[in-house]
This record gives sequence, structure tokens and C-alpha cells, in this order.
Amino acid sequence: MKIIEGIKKYANTDRIAIICEGEKLSYNELDKYSEAIAIYLKSIHGEENTPILVYGNKENMMMPCMIGALKSGRAYVPLDTSFPIDRVKTVTEEVNPKVLFNFGEEVEFEDVIVINKEKLEDIINEYKEKSISSENWVKEDENAYILFTSGSTGKPKGVQISSNNLDSFVNWMSPYLKIDGSEKVMMNQAAYSFDLSVTSIYPALVNGSTLFSISKKVLADYKLLFSELKESNMSVWVSTPSFAGVCLSDSSFNQEMMPNLESMIFIGEVLPKNVAKELMERFPNTRVINGYGPTEATVGVSVNDITLEFIEDEKSLPVGYPMDNCKIKIVDENGIEVESGQKGEIMIIGPSVSKGYFNNKEKTDEVFYFDEINGVKHRAYKTGDMGHMLEGRIYYSGRVDFQVKLNGYRIEIEDIENNLRKVNNIKNAVVMPIYKNDKIAYLKGIVQLKEKNELSNIKNGTLIKKELSKYLPQYMIPRNVTVIDEFPMNTNGKIDRKKLMAEL
Ligand code: AMP
Repeated sequence: MKIIEGIKKYANTDRIAIICEGEKLSYNELDKYSEAIAIYLKSIHGEENTPILVYGNKENMMMPCMIGALKSGRAYVPLDTSFPIDRVKTVTEEVNPKVLFNFGEEVEFEDVIVINKEKLEDIINEYKEKSISSENWVKEDENAYILFTSGSTGKPKGVQISSNNLDSFVNWMSPYLKIDGSEKVMMNQAAYSFDLSVTSIYPALVNGSTLFSISKKVLADYKLLFSELKESNMSVWVSTPSFAGVCLSDSSFNQEMMPNLESMIFIGEVLPKNVAKELMERFPNTRVINGYGPTEATVGVSVNDITLEFIEDEKSLPVGYPMDNCKIKIVDENGIEVESGQKGEIMIIGPSVSKGYFNNKEKTDEVFYFDEINGVKHRAYKTGDMGHMLEGRIYYSGRVDFQVKLNGYRIEIEDIENNLRKVNNIKNAVVMPIYKNDKIAYLKGIVQLKEKNELSNIKNGTLIKKELSKYLPQYMIPRNVTVIDEFPMNTNGKIDRKKLMAEL
């Protein structure tokens, strides 16, 4: 596995692998600690390769746990502390792990060994002088990680990413970002449960760069965030456009703050022209890159540098040229490839496409299939994204379903609706994205109660949101929830969302 080989290459240097709130972990420590964790995991599992869970935010020690899993031949499942315990429980039941590394609030699950920070220290002390043979490492089509994304049924779906998938992504992304083995600093801001984080982690660790982590605590305090950025000596910025948009609201966010910033890469949602333009003005020495891809095809499959020409063009910004070994097909509703310039659904074919959803053949068969590139069979994925190709570049133009992006987070609207229906006294629920300037500004929930009560709309909304936060992370909770007597229906007997929207 290229990733572990990469880490090994720098294991005898004094380079820093990861830094968070001033605390550092060197490549040497990362290698040694992950080795010890791998040996421990082998001793617990024997030949069984059940995935392990890692629950936390940006604690440095999460990294040796993830790499330790890979060295022991098993996948890791990262869960951010923004996941409420109920969601962690759902994933735990789905994965059925033997071990969970916990950096968050205390949890207890039947038949799961929960390892907290103190226990982890004991494990490292016990095994730190030992090493594990490379024969054990995750290889080829074996799973490296499983990321749980919002699922329309109300249960998250686990996307399985193999060692081959990951190597394919890293081999393409590292040279594009000019990460070349020299000591660079990569921003590590996205939660590990969000695939954007992989854009930072592995191109950095394979090439001896330093991951500059930005924790939830720092994110919540802009003064602290900007002072950290100033100290960071950042070379590569990785975030959603939304996050950069928020940073732009402060005038000090410019090249002076990060004089060595070479590139800023955005993947995960629409990069608005005004954001790209302002970044190019404030960071004249920095490349602004727009990338595109779903978790199911390992983070990203296309990139391009944004130029003034693209900004002045009347079309939206292109989301990139496909990576070399990947083929993008745009197809009509009958699955027939359309001509260049015509709109259709985006299909991705190539070695970065996942083998499917964990333990979920039905959902896997719906969207994964096989196709060919130059006569060679590859996995393929039906994205649900609409778009067209022009001069070899991809242009994105929305979804075919109810999946949305809010501040970069991927959310299935039906996931929220199904969880709203679990809330006490709720009969039915609809969630609507509210747009401002062609961008989703927030989500609005509309519910019908089983039994009417005397509470005001605001009070009902507050109570419902509070109960909903037991099931969903904060970013999925609608900003407001309104109670109505009856949902308008269309002629098919379905809730008429358009009419509902007009009535509100
Ligand atoms: P995720 O799996 O969280 O990475 O989300 C993948 C989805 O995000 C894609 O299927 C698209 O709908 C959307 N997406 C990713 N990159 C872009 C982009 N550059 N512009 C617009 N939408 C994007």
C-alpha cells in the first residue's frame, strides 16, 4: 500500500506529520504508534478482518489509529464527534466492530471494546518496540476505509474505499497539487467522516508534508482560527467553498495571512464565481482549483485551475478535466451517451470507483455497475449528478434527486424527513431547502402532528429540533420547523412540495 510505504519513507526523519492546536506528532511517532496499534488489533481479531471505528474530531492520536488499522489489514470507519450517539450506534450496529477508538464522549456498546485515550496509551507502551510485517497491510481490493454518508432511508450508507481506489486518487492528486516530498503544510480542516478530508490526509502523508489540523474548537472561534492560520505557514488550502466564503468576510483573510499559500482546492459543492474571483484578488500568488467527485469514486475525479476567462464566461465554473485513468460519460434517461455540450447524468468509470455500499447489496446494485475504458472492464458509478462536457471539461448542473449540499455537507433530504418521523407526536414531515442567490441558505422543516397541542409554532419547533438532534448531527437540523394542519396533495396523492413551498 503506497500510503504506508510513504509514511515509512519519512519515519526516520524529524518531520512533523500532524499538528493540532500546537501539539505535534512526528512521522517517527506516527509510524511507531500505528505499528503498536496494528499489533494490538491483530491480537484481538486474529485472522478476522472486521473494520474498526474511530470516533473523534481532530485529535492527533486519531491518525495512528487509522494508519494502525491499515497496517493490521483492516478498514477504519471515521465518525466525527458531530455525529450524535444515536447515529454512532446505528453505524456500530451496521459494522459490528470488535474495537472502537473513542476520543469523544463516553460510549458503551455491547460486545465492542471501547478504547479511550488512557487505554490507548497503555496499548502503545505495551507494543511500541514491536513491528508488524508488510504482509499484513491492507492491499489491492481490500477496504481501506468506509465512510458513512447520509442515506435516503434515514440510515447512513457506508461507502467502501479500497487500497487500490485510494492509491489511484493519491497518485493523481499529489502531483496536481505539486506535493512533491518537500516540506509543505496542508490544511486538515474537513471532518474525517467527510471524504474531503482525504484530499488533505493522504497526499500529505505519502509525501512527507505536515497536516495542519483545525479542530472544532478552533473553528468555533474566528479570532483563534485566523491567528492559527497566520502561524500555519500553509502551502495548500483544502476546504469547501462555503468555508472559504465565511473566511472572506474578514478583510485580514488575504495573502499576507498566508504568504506561502500555493494553491486552494475546493471540492464538494458549487464554487460560486464571486467567491473564486475574490479569492483570486486576495491571493494573487495562489492557484484557485475547482474539483468534483462523490465519496463513491474516492473524493474527486476531475480538477481544473480557475482562470479569469472562466469567471468572465457566462457559464458556471467548470468542475474540471477528468483524471487520466477515469472516464466520464454523460448519458440521457435511456442510458445512451449524449454528444459533447448536451446535458445528462454524469457516470464515472475507472479504478477509483468503490466496490459499493457496506452490507447493502440492494443500494449497491442501484448505482454501481461495470463498464469499459478502451476495452478494459472497470467499476462504474451512476452519480445522480446532472451536467455536460465541453472541450473536455465537466460542467455540473444540479441533482436528479433530493440530495443537497449545505455548507459542503452532503445531506439526503429524506434522511432528515425519516428521522423527523421518529420524533414524538409527528405524523408526517417534509424538509425544504430554502434558496438565496441560487444557493441553499438553510433547511426548513414542515410537520403535521399526530395530536394537535396548545403550544405555539415556535415552541413546538424548538422541542422538535431538540428531539431531532438525538438522531442527527447539528448540520442536518433544519433552521426552523413549522407545524401545519394538513399537507397539500398532488393528483398522484403525494405531498405537493411545490404548492407547499408557495404556501409558506
Ligand atoms: P460527497 O460525497 O460528500 O463528496 O458529495 C458528492 C456530491 O457533491 C457530488 O455528487 C455533487 O453533487 C456535489 N459536488 C462535488 N463537487 C462539486 C462541485 N465542484 N460543484 C458542484 N457540486 C459538487
